Parts: sequence; C-alpha cells; structure tokens
Amino acid sequence: MATASASRAYKNFINGEWVAPNSGKTLENRNPANTDEVIGVFPLSSQEDVDAAVSAAKAAYHSWRLTPAPKRAEILYRTAEILVKRKEEFSREMTREMGKVLAETRGDVQEAIDMTYYMAGEGRRLFGQTTPSELPNKFAMSVRQSIGVCGMITPWNFPMAIPSWKMMPALVCGNTLVIKPAEDTPLSTHNLVGVLAEAGLPPGVVNLVGGDGPGTGAALTRHPDVPVVSFTGSTSTGRLIAETCAPVFKHYSLEMGGKNIILVMEDANLDLAVDGAIWGGFGTTGQRCTAASRVAVHKNVYNEFVNRFVARAAKLKVGNGLDPTVEMGPCINEQQLQTVMSYIEIGRREGAKLLTGGSRLSSGEYAKGWFHQPTVFGDCSPKMRVAQEEIFGPVVSLIPIDSLEQGIEVANGVPYGLSASIYTLNVNRAFAAMQDLYTGIVYVNAPTIGAETHLPFGGTKQTGNGHREAAVAAIDFFTEWKSVYIDYSDKLQRAQIDNN
Ligand code: NAD
Repeated sequence: MATASASRAYKNFINGEWVAPNSGKTLENRNPANTDEVIGVFPLSSQEDVDAAVSAAKAAYHSWRLTPAPKRAEILYRTAEILVKRKEEFSREMTREMGKVLAETRGDVQEAIDMTYYMAGEGRRLFGQTTPSELPNKFAMSVRQSIGVCGMITPWNFPMAIPSWKMMPALVCGNTLVIKPAEDTPLSTHNLVGVLAEAGLPPGVVNLVGGDGPGTGAALTRHPDVPVVSFTGSTSTGRLIAETCAPVFKHYSLEMGGKNIILVMEDANLDLAVDGAIWGGFGTTGQRCTAASRVAVHKNVYNEFVNRFVARAAKLKVGNGLDPTVEMGPCINEQQLQTVMSYIEIGRREGAKLLTGGSRLSSGEYAKGWFHQPTVFGDCSPKMRVAQEEIFGPVVSLIPIDSLEQGIEVANGVPYGLSASIYTLNVNRAFAAMQDLYTGIVYVNAPTIGAETHLPFGGTKQTGNGHREAAVAAIDFFTEWKSVYIDYSDKLQRAQIDNN
C-alpha cells in the first residue's frame, strides 16, 4: 500500500519537458476500490501553467502544420506500437486509478491503439476533392487545412481511449494541442502523453496540464490562442464550454451525457437480450456515456425477462477490478456514489419497484472503496426521473411496453440521444428501429455499448452539438476546408456570368 508521502509526484508536460506546476498546488489521486492506496499526486495547474502550455503549442504549430502528414503519421505508428507493448502495464494502472475491471481497461487501451493506427493511416489519405470547373481551362479542388492549438478536456470513465479519440486526429491533421485530463484519472493520460514523447513527437506539439475543471479547464477553454475546444463530459459542463466558446466563435465539439435504451421485442432471443442488458447496464459499473440504463421490454415477455435479468444482476461479483473473478468494480468517487444513492431514493419515492440491489456495499472487503450493489428498478413509467435522467452508476430501469411504436416513443422521449439498441429476430422491426430511433448510434441484437473506432461516435439532442468523434468525422472537426480554384485560361472568367 502506498502512502501519500511515498506516492509519486507527477508533473505537467510542457514543451517536451516534465515540469512541476507553477501553482505549487497538487491533487491526490486514490484507488476507488481501496482509498488507502494513493495512485499519485498530480498538478493542480494555474492560469500561468495553462499560458505556458498554450504558448508552447502555439510556437510548435508553425513547423508541425508544415510537416508532411505521412511523417506526422509515422510518429503515430510508433506510438501505437509502444502502446501494444505496454498494454498490460497501462491496463493495470488504469484499473487501479479508475476501478473498472481489467478486461475493460485492456479494452480501453486497445481502443487507444486502434484509434492511433486508424489516424496514422489517415496520414496518407486526408482526402479532399478534385472536381470539374464550370468554366473552361480552370481547375477546382478542396483541401483540408489544420486549425491551430486545440484545447482538450476529458472525463474519467475512458481515461486513455477518450484522450486518444481527440489527440490522434488532431495531430495527424497538423494541429498542436493542450490536454487537461479528468481530476480522477490523470495517470492514464500521463501514460499516453509519455508514449507520444517516446515515439519522437517534437517538443510543444502535445502538452499536458493537470488540474480541475473550474480553474484549469476553464482557463484552457477561454484562452484566446486556443481556437478549437474538444470536450467530453457532462451536459452541464458542456453548456458552460459552449457559453465560453460561442461568443468568440471558437470551434467546439461537445460529447455529453446519455440515457440509452435497449428495446426487447416479443420475438427476441431472450438469452441474448439478458446477456446484452447485463453487459450494457453494469459494464464499467454503469459509468459509460453509452450505458444501457433503460431496458424497455414487450409485455408478452416482460415477466420472463425480468426474472432472468434480476437473477443475473443479483449474482454479479462486485469488487476490486484487478481480481479476475470480479465482474463489476466500484463507483469512481464518493460523490458519484452519493448520486447513485440519491437516485435509489428518488426511484423508491416515484413508485418504481426495487427488484434487487439498492444499497451501498461498505463492510468487509468493501469497507475502503466506493462500491454499490447492481440495482434494478422494475415497472418504471417512462417519465419517472430514474427513466429520464443520467444516473451514471449501476442502476437499470425496466419499462414495460406494448409495441415497437411505443418502444420507439419511449426511446426518443428523453433529452439525450447517444445510443439505442433493439433485440428482435424480425427484420422489419430491426429496420424500422434503425430508421426511427433518433440517436447517434443504433445496435441490432447487441447492447448499447461497443463502438468501433472507424465509425462516427456521438449523439443527438443534449448529448452533442452536431459533431462526431472517431472515423473521418473526427478529421472533419480538426480541419477546415479550403476550396482552391486555378484559372489557367489567361483571361478574366466570371463564374455564373460568362458561361450563361
Ligand atoms: P464532468 O463534466 O464533470 O467533467 C469532465 C471534464 O470537464 C473534467 O476534465 C473536468 O475537470 C472538466 N470541467 C469541469 N468543469 C469545467 C469547466 N467549468 N470548464 C472546463 N472544464 C471543466 O464530467 P465527468 O463526471 O468527468 O464525466 C461523466 C460525464 O461524461 C457523463 O455525463 C457522461 O455521459 C459523459 N461522457 C460522455 C461521453 C460521450 O462521448 N458522449 C463519453 C464519456 C463520458
């Protein structure tokens, strides 16, 4: 067990050097499964630290943007190769700092590897268009251009994957960046930045400042030399970011909350649906933006589904994610656990039926962690708060439905629109759901989680502001289009006039 005094002191990464914060202030990071264990002490950076990081990124931008994209990509290929070698070490460290089980932290690091390889491949694409001109002896094309210094603000639930979703496309496109990781999970971002440096990234291209949201994060967001802000986190923080960015016309991408749903139709393979709902609802302790926190089940199979689902949920093994037999880890911190507990009370008061769970786990092996039982509410009406609001914990609300049409209405009847899924063996129902679910992601016969890095990721309504991460969609966010016309006719040709 590490004590606070013996724990490692981490630094900011500015202009290619690991430097202590000017502020002299730090944040302690503890293992959510065992709060006696201090993971490390991390910088709590001031405005001055953010200024230093942004000015390094601004200086590095001049040569990075002119570095050929395939050369930029070579550094990403090397980064991915180092990540592959160190995957196990980084996954274990992530489980210690974040709590999710080792299989899932391995998945998190793998997602960073996949994204890095994918974006490295973009170094030889970054395709624009060549197109005919409406005038003779004239050539027309569109090219992508980088934008400048990107500010990145990330949450704690995917502490290496989400930073990679932002950093890798930004870098391959020729931008430089400053990233501020979440207070609860800075270590995984330190690991990723360390690997980029080891892979040969020039000083100043990537900078890392540790810190809190209202201080460090807000300073980065409003910095006048940061024209692009990429944020993932809660909808309430996303709104603050928008209020800062919109008046000065920054580019900003917001990936925010979700209240995702699984629809189980009367013809579904129920074994498969139960497997999916358990993984979707309780994977990452329900702390995924794509967590299946609602399951709407057709009345003809409702009782059967509920019996099987509740029996499985009640048997999930909760504990320290480093134990390979554990299926669900702790909540990230005391505050998140308190939020979960407050929603248990809200659900009870609203008349939802508590079918299993409902309590904090605090004795024996659980005494030093932020553990909560897997919890299921039955007979929920779609307008109850437990069926409308993002809880971000191990709580699933079951909603009986009469038809696919009603299921779709329930699915779309929340303020968010990230992910939705349908279990059915009927192809007509599957296609109707694909057409009518108003979410950024739809799954058929799979739960609401499991996005792959080469497809756009993000959501509608209060989940996002129209941008997407991953895939070519991320390239669209981190570049601007420039249309170029080359007239080789040697005379003035007036578009829309001389040819009509
Ligand atoms: P959060 O909004 O509290 O914090 C996210 C980040 O924003 C942190 O780094 C935090 O320090 C920073 N921050 C807080 N206040 C700020 C401010 N005023 N200015 C600038 N930065 C500020 O969210 P969280 O609790 O870390 O993460 C959970 C939320 O993230 C959930 O709502 C979840 O759905 C969402 N999330 C969304 C996606 C997605 O892709 N849609 C993915 C993962 C998580």
